Amino acid sequence: MEMTACTVCGKIFGASSGKVCPACGKLLDMVYEKARAYLRDHPHADMHARDLAKAIKEDEKLVEMLMIEGRFDRREDSGSDEDKKKMKLLEELQKNLSVPSQKESAASTYGSDRHGAGKDR
Ligand SMILES: [Zn+2]
Repeated sequence: MEMTACTVCGKIFGASSGKVCPACGKLLDMVYEKARAYLRDHPHADMHARDLAKAIKEDEKLVEMLMIEGRFDRREDSGSDEDKKKMKLLEELQKNLSVPSQKESAASTYGSDRHGAGKDR
């Protein structure tokens, strides 16, 4: 039988149940339920493992494990619109970043020309 070190507690166990020993697997399920309930109540929380762990009063390592395993993949819940919005915002930000320097220099020379013409009159 293949043996693996549990990624949570480091105990050596039979690898049939994955990367986590049965005891930690139960723990992870419990933490996951808590975390999922929390995320449901705070869908816009930008969660790092540490913050989430603190919020649900669980071990940061366990929360991190769940994240690594991809259990908090929220795309299936409701995040797709949110993601699209974020992408749009990013695109616009990038557009705005590349344009202003040209616009500004063009505007300033144009502006001073007009200003000088106005003084002459
Ligand atoms: Zn373990």
